[in-house]
Amino acid sequence: MSKVVIIGGGISGLSTAYYLAKGGAACTILESRPRLGGVIQTDHVEGCTIEAGPDSFLSAKPAALELIRDLGLADQVIGSNDSLRKTYVRKGGHLVPLPDGLMMMVPTKILPLVTTRLLSWSTKIRMGLELLRSPKAKAGDESVAQFIEEHYGAEAVDYLAEPLLSGIYGGSPSDLSVNSVLPRFVDLAKQYGSLTRGVLAQRAKAKSKTPSGTQPEPLFRTLKGGLGQMIDAITASIRGKVETRQVRAQAVERRAGGFRIRLDGDWMEADRLVVACEAHSGSRLLPGVDGRLAELLGAVPYSSSMTVALGFNTADFQTPPDGFGFLVPKRERRRLVACTWVGTKFSYRVPEGTVLARCFLGGTGDAAILQESDEAVLGAVTAELHEIAGFQAQPRFKRISRWPSSMAQYTVGHPERVSEIEARLAAIEGLHIAGNAYRGIGIPDCIRMGKQAAERILTVPAKA
Ligand SMILES: Cc1cc2nc3c(=O)[nH]c(=O)nc-3n(C[C@H](O)[C@H](O)[C@H](O)COP(=O)(O)OP(=O)(O)OC[C@H]3O[C@@H](n4cnc5c(N)ncnc54)[C@H](O)[C@@H]3O)c2cc1C
Repeated sequence: MSKVVIIGGGISGLSTAYYLAKGGAACTILESRPRLGGVIQTDHVEGCTIEAGPDSFLSAKPAALELIRDLGLADQVIGSNDSLRKTYVRKGGHLVPLPDGLMMMVPTKILPLVTTRLLSWSTKIRMGLELLRSPKAKAGDESVAQFIEEHYGAEAVDYLAEPLLSGIYGGSPSDLSVNSVLPRFVDLAKQYGSLTRGVLAQRAKAKSKTPSGTQPEPLFRTLKGGLGQMIDAITASIRGKVETRQVRAQAVERRAGGFRIRLDGDWMEADRLVVACEAHSGSRLLPGVDGRLAELLGAVPYSSSMTVALGFNTADFQTPPDGFGFLVPKRERRRLVACTWVGTKFSYRVPEGTVLARCFLGGTGDAAILQESDEAVLGAVTAELHEIAGFQAQPRFKRISRWPSSMAQYTVGHPERVSEIEARLAAIEGLHIAGNAYRGIGIPDCIRMGKQAAERILTVPAKA
């Protein structure tokens, strides 16, 4: 039987291993950290379920839910509490709610747009006039900032696109590729000219196909006990079928009919290899296999991020915090990028009597925060929370998680880069990649890529 080795035991590598095992193929996972799951890590502190990395996945992308059902965890799935959804943005030192009816940065309702304090009158008028745009032929990629500014103006970039994308990518809209990050909006702009008209037309189509009385799907889903439940279930399911080794792969070379991987003073042979680690790490492994491929992987930038979970006594608040949380646009930012009130966004996460704030820091603009001490981080976050959210309670407990170079940045030119990566891979028999650096950064995308790598391995027989 051919030997399959997977480098990286995050959700991409674990999904590959899971679907290989399901298809009856053995494999080995090499993971340098002492635990599996990569950036997915759930901690339980004083009755709270705390996500150190991701907290949920988009419902609209099916791969995560499919895997979760396959693992027998369907009864553990919960949705975000969308009836309580309200997200604030800091503007001029105040928290202002995002206007109702926004689809990312596309306004779809007139009244909330007209009355919001988040945008000036000139931006509101510009957003209204956007409805009159006619389709324009456009070739090539551009930044999200250029694209959104052309449709809705610079203020929509600063107070909508920037804070929303910072929370997802930890990146700047002036670097991110619109073709990779907002491909649906690019298609709508091509077809309709106006993004707003495009989104409204799509909604009307979707509505006409939905039987009346159907409840809308929650935007995000997760598991009652946290996403770590998914990692535990995969680990349990592959036990005995998949070998896992805690070791860092250091280099890969080609050999007749396959590859050899250098580990600590040792070599391991593989007929098929799945590189499921971060692209920058893959780039360091692969120069001996294909220099240009290694260069292309190394050209995908990554941002570093940090999450800080703070638990407070509800009794210490005069009024409990409102909504899902808030975003701080770069124009108004010191260290805090965003904050989620976990107990409002998801049920089962926070016991009565506790307020849990999950704060995001770092991103492309502030990787330096990861080098600061826990005390300095805690001091900065608590002071900013007090000032922005207007309370004085001191945290009862804290959890700080640092994620260096973990979030791939799809910068302008990313689609061409990925096409070239895929073309080079197609020419190297037995080599596959999966991960957040290529065709989707979210958990469902990583699972889909892992599954596709497994399917290719299972369907193409190894050379004798
Ligand atoms: C703070 C944060 C919040 C996020 N929030 C969300 C969210 O809410 N929803 C969502 O859908 N997505 C979210 N994401 C994105 C998503 O979680 C990730 O894109 C996804 O989990 C990445 O999985 P992965 O397996 O590709 O990579 P990783 O999880 O980074 O795993 C890669 C693994 O490879 C290992 N490795 C690297 N090099 C080597 C080597 N040479 N040898 C052996 N092992 C190696 C690493 O130790 C690591 O464990 C978030 C990401 C972060 C960082």
